[in-house]
Amino acid sequence: AGLPRTVSDDLGVPTVHRTVTDYANFDHGATTPALVAVAEAAERVQRRYGSVHRGAGYASRVTTGWFEAARAQVGQFVGARDGDQVVFTRNTTDALRLLAHCLPRRTRVIAWESAHHAALLPWPARTTTRLPVPDSADDAVALLRGALQDSPARHQLVVITGACNVTGEVWPVAELVAVAKEFGARTVLDAAQYAPHRELDLEQLGVDWVAFSGHKLYAPYGAGVLAGRSDWLDAASPYLPAGGATAAVTPRHTQWQTGPARHEGGTPNAVGAIAIAAACATLGAHRATIEAHEEQLHGRLRAGLAAIDGVRVIEALGDRPNVGVVTFTVEGYEPSLVSQVLADEQAIAVRDGRFCAHLLCDAIVGPGQTAVRASLGLATTGEHVDRLITAVRRLVEDGPQLSYVHTETGWSA
Ligand code: PMP
Repeated sequence: AGLPRTVSDDLGVPTVHRTVTDYANFDHGATTPALVAVAEAAERVQRRYGSVHRGAGYASRVTTGWFEAARAQVGQFVGARDGDQVVFTRNTTDALRLLAHCLPRRTRVIAWESAHHAALLPWPARTTTRLPVPDSADDAVALLRGALQDSPARHQLVVITGACNVTGEVWPVAELVAVAKEFGARTVLDAAQYAPHRELDLEQLGVDWVAFSGHKLYAPYGAGVLAGRSDWLDAASPYLPAGGATAAVTPRHTQWQTGPARHEGGTPNAVGAIAIAAACATLGAHRATIEAHEEQLHGRLRAGLAAIDGVRVIEALGDRPNVGVVTFTVEGYEPSLVSQVLADEQAIAVRDGRFCAHLLCDAIVGPGQTAVRASLGLATTGEHVDRLITAVRRLVEDGPQLSYVHTETGWSA
């Protein structure tokens, strides 16, 4: 259907019955398989790379050119404005940590307890306000307005989740940014779950920074992005004080670079950056098709699971656009057993747990409770959706086909 292809489709996956090649990957929210275009780009770099920004030889020049072209490509993908910069990081966690490092002194940070731990925890505790888990988009906006109304701080940063990693719900980003702007607060978008599924446009969204990870964007591990306004980044001390970040070093004084180099100390992960750029190019060119594919499959999956007796679909905001996630519990079965049965009997990959969002799960799943998350993406097909629904229905109606024992390390068949 004109969808970009991923490399995972010919995997051989062992199950208790047989080895299957039609692996049903419902774990895109954790990590995505590489796009074919990404694997090819990474392979090209692997065959001819040299030192980035550090060598005069041919391979070094070529790699430096690729690396900076990758930065420009990512800038285009995020709709970077004049004066914005793209810094390559290790992942979203690292990108948000970098921004936390760059906050002017006593910046007040506002974040919802529903945020992923990577977006909840890096900020200085003394100056961070945590808003409770909202129960609707309007509630999220009202909570923010309330917090900003009684804030005297000179610098403020609102941490917004683009799409929730537990529920897949898309947050009311435009409305939240409008409120933040009304009070002169800046915004950062945690786009780890948003970027793979929705167009990201700094200009149009009006957020000051955006952070995302390559490994959730059909590119390899180990590279991520922080993109946005330069002023706080250029005014802060280097994140990684090292080679590449320095302009000049004398016995008494170190002069640091400005721009992305300031925070990219050490030899960068050029393969990762070039791979992300390849993913950006491919996803950017197929947005409408990807959204249509995912929306259709999501509707089918959600309806199919919700129709099964004893299945509870977990939501926080309710009635929101969704990036392709259905998180659920099955009455009478531990979520870890459900995911084990799906993997062992049907080669279906889901994730169970609390998804690095403990406060959110406490609020919407239940205190200390876990759930099963099915997150779809480019490697998901209609057959996969039907297989998952059928497997859950069969589990509810007939129980597991094998006997499973719970051990210290989880369930085993
Ligand atoms: N934010 C969200 C919404 C996420 O889903 C994740 C990954 N689960 C992260 C941040 C952290 O991403 P990473 O592990 O790649 O740093």
